[in-house]
Amino acid sequence: MLNDNKKILIVGPCSAESAEQVLAIAQGLESIRPLNYQVIFRAGIWKPRTSPTSFQGAGDEALKWLQAINWPTSTEVATPEHVKRAIAAGIQYLWIGARTSANPIAVQAIADCLPLGAKIMVKNPVNEDVDLWIGNILRLEKAGAFVMAIHRGCGHKPRWHMAFELRRRRPDIPLLLDPSHMSGDANQIATLCQTAMDLQYDGLMIEVHTCPSKALSDGKQQITPLHLHNIITQLHVNNGEALPLLELRKEMDEVDDELWNIMAKRMDVSKRIGEYKKSQGIPVLQSARYEQIVQRRVDWANNDSNIPISEEAIRQIMDAIHKESVRVQS
Ligand code: PEP
Ligand code: MN
Repeated sequence: MLNDNKKILIVGPCSAESAEQVLAIAQGLESIRPLNYQVIFRAGIWKPRTSPTSFQGAGDEALKWLQAINWPTSTEVATPEHVKRAIAAGIQYLWIGARTSANPIAVQAIADCLPLGAKIMVKNPVNEDVDLWIGNILRLEKAGAFVMAIHRGCGHKPRWHMAFELRRRRPDIPLLLDPSHMSGDANQIATLCQTAMDLQYDGLMIEVHTCPSKALSDGKQQITPLHLHNIITQLHVNNGEALPLLELRKEMDEVDDELWNIMAKRMDVSKRIGEYKKSQGIPVLQSARYEQIVQRRVDWANNDSNIPISEEAIRQIMDAIHKESVRVQS
């Protein structure tokens, strides 16, 4: 499916909204087609939205809007009916979205009705389950499809460890990055695209709209065709620099983000404890309670030989956290 080792660029609106909107976006994107990418147009027709009151997609009518575009097109499928209608309308690439990807019965139903040799992309599921993602790929491959994987993260955050684990286990599957759903923020698209190039992804899926503020879905994350053109022409492709180190650093950043989010949550609980203590006239410093917290952590480390943190380090770190907690409570 990869053409001459060219990177893949899947671009277009979150949702097809009207014949005019689809055509205007496709025209706006003409300038990136001569660049050195394999370009595919995307537009959602049947939208799996969180709320039933949000725009649910234009439905079957939009198939003919995509037919008016004279380059390869793609759309999201969530049911066998979608697959049949999209294939019948001549849409060359299908993708399975993150919500459907979390449901193996839905993915199997899609696999069971794919024509042999179908080209299909599967996003990571909304839950952090790399086995499920790989399982979906296997279901589609068993049906004779060409499969690509799209890393779109979970909850507007990348999940690098999932993507790298998928690449470790299936280095043969093209891996794309979707910065739009990964960040939910138009301002982060450029940086994430460059990160994808640094990490040697095989391509990108990016949401583009001529007027993002008027988009019927995902307005905050869509960028204009001109913005996309600027991003793409400034990308540096990494042809082999220290990939293992880059991957490990990304995983480290991800863990640090989690660590500090948890720390912020801990301080918030600490603040609420401080407010309660104040209301009851209880002193902030409770040394017996502090000793109990430290001992619990030391026992945890001693009882599990997989935890490579020394007792001394645990005491130092807990001491620093405790000092900050006392400051927050005072
Ligand atoms: C989409 O690509 O428009 C979409 C709904 O994406 P996701 O499944 O990643 O949320
Ligand atoms: Mn979208």
